[in-house]
Amino acid sequence: MRRHTWSGAAAALLLLLGAATACSSDSDSKLGVCETSPNGVPITASAGSGPTSTNLSLHPEIATGYRTGMKPVHTKTFAVSTANPVATEAACKVLRDGGTAADALIVAQTVLGLVEPQASGIGGGAFLLYYDAAGKQIDAYDGRETAPAAATQDYLRWISDTDRTTPQPNARASGRSIGTPGVLRMLELAQHEHGKQTWRDLFAPAIALADQGFQISPRMAGQIADSATDLKRDENAAGYFLQPDGSPKPAGTTLTNPAMAKTLNAIASDGANAFYTGAIAADIIDAIGTTSGGRTPGLTTAADLAAYQPKKRTVLCAPYRTHEICGMPNPSSGGTTVEATLGILSNFDLASMKPADTTGDNDTARNGGKPTAQAVHLISEAERLAYADRDKYVADSDFIPMPGNSPQTLLNPDYLKQRAGLIDPNRSMGTAQPGDFGPVPLGDGVQQPEHGTSHISIVDQYGNAASMTTTVESAFGAFHLVDGFILNNQLTDFAADPLGKDGLPVANRLAPGKRPRSSMAPTLVFDRAPDGTRGQLTYVTGSPGGAVIIQFVVKTLVAMLDWGLNPQQAVSMVAFGAANSPTTNVGGEHPAINAANNGDQDPLVQQLRQLGHTVSVLPQSSGLSALTRDGTGWVGGADPRREGAVLGDPN
Ligand code: GLU
Repeated sequence: MRRHTWSGAAAALLLLLGAATACSSDSDSKLGVCETSPNGVPITASAGSGPTSTNLSLHPEIATGYRTGMKPVHTKTFAVSTANPVATEAACKVLRDGGTAADALIVAQTVLGLVEPQASGIGGGAFLLYYDAAGKQIDAYDGRETAPAAATQDYLRWISDTDRTTPQPNARASGRSIGTPGVLRMLELAQHEHGKQTWRDLFAPAIALADQGFQISPRMAGQIADSATDLKRDENAAGYFLQPDGSPKPAGTTLTNPAMAKTLNAIASDGANAFYTGAIAADIIDAIGTTSGGRTPGLTTAADLAAYQPKKRTVLCAPYRTHEICGMPNPSSGGTTVEATLGILSNFDLASMKPADTTGDNDTARNGGKPTAQAVHLISEAERLAYADRDKYVADSDFIPMPGNSPQTLLNPDYLKQRAGLIDPNRSMGTAQPGDFGPVPLGDGVQQPEHGTSHISIVDQYGNAASMTTTVESAFGAFHLVDGFILNNQLTDFAADPLGKDGLPVANRLAPGKRPRSSMAPTLVFDRAPDGTRGQLTYVTGSPGGAVIIQFVVKTLVAMLDWGLNPQQAVSMVAFGAANSPTTNVGGEHPAINAANNGDQDPLVQQLRQLGHTVSVLPQSSGLSALTRDGTGWVGGADPRREGAVLGDPN
């Protein structure tokens, strides 16, 4: 296997200029591939259109503006889209050199852990859908964090049964929120099953970057500034992300991470076991158990780490018009809720409700036009109904079985047709009731805010594809930095209170060894023959965004499948939708939305309000990526709201 020398300085420039810079490579004949300019306009030119960070309690991951007029990227045989151009470029080179999507994932994840540590890393968890073209097989990998064996159902809200006070300084920033990380063992399994390159070599780009340094991107800098108070509490995090005087390191600062280089070297040599057992595991246990800064310790032990296993789940697929949508089942609610929404929508003629202004060579069209009120109304109503079921029934089904013992119960076409009948075309229902599946001893769940995640979409030259959403939960997770990486706060995705409003235990209550419910929705779409058989893979997509992920993915799929928008238009399009509440989101960061005065002068907002929606025009921080087959190759899009880029072999 060919080894690339990675230039940290080049990487730094790439980020600051928002354009690709040549990296040294020993494969002259391939020079240029993976080194073309990423799509869109420079990252540094992105701020400005639309409101920036406001109301951070509702949107814990900051918004970074909107890159208007981004163009789709056309590639021939392989493509990768990640949330950061340095990670995209490194992963692209693996694909260029004959690696598979599984190989490229290792590179993308390890580089993202350096250049986008607020969102994902080896201290977190992930869900991966992998399409193996030769076997026409879809594998669904669950690398979700787990609660430690010593956790009780009150672990997040009480220090102990006898000390019923809140963990300090709060559940998230204490050791209590930290689940046993899962992404590394999951990736090791996926690469073992689907990789072609040598495990060890796949760590070289990230090790070189950690050793030689890279520059803090504008988005990472914004997130450091926003999290400075919490980062200060942790000596390692403060030393890495803050200046000696405690102020946040600004964009453009060169960071090296020798601790991460050491960690990655150990994993490269000895596999994921180097992380789950031995010295690194001991450091993780110590970090989770720390009381420094007045933090309440978590109760994770060496046995919890050593016992972690990724799980292979049965992929959850459902028809949508002439397509088959495949997603992640429990413990993620992503697949079920996206597919239930689409199943409800298949009872309506959405194609006739295409957004305005989607054609022509201009920024308005490139940004996905402007959605119609009728479409936003219908889609939001369908989402309310789907979220109502999600909130009540979906959790880790190894602990709490789904109605009918299968996620397909909530996707039954007759059931969804009946749910569609509850939609009034002229009036929002506000809040939907969950479906009735007979007596179940479950309380109504509640939603929690959550945001600290990244999505990776990859297709390789063999026709394999990977759709992986990877997360430390909130930005910078639990703010504990150990051996160069951030530890997640994924356990806050459990309901902190085990009982619902009605006094019944909720499905997503905490239990030892249980995995918290997720909303992550890595998605693969296939053609569907009239007889129901699966055809070729046509779309790869997914997004971060906490519980809002479901809305981001639905609007992107509808834009591509019903409205024929290209993947860049689809991800760029206004982010809209609703969870199960009267509030409908219409992303005010988008240039097509007039967010001034709470959207009062915006015609779309006005029409939705007339239909009874409580409209929020707060900026939406999706981080979508999408790849689509287009006959001669692939077309890709990256979210204008983050720093992502698509690269591949030019078509
Ligand atoms: N923890 C969230 C989940 O698993 C993801 C958070 C995010 O997307 O920012 O659903």
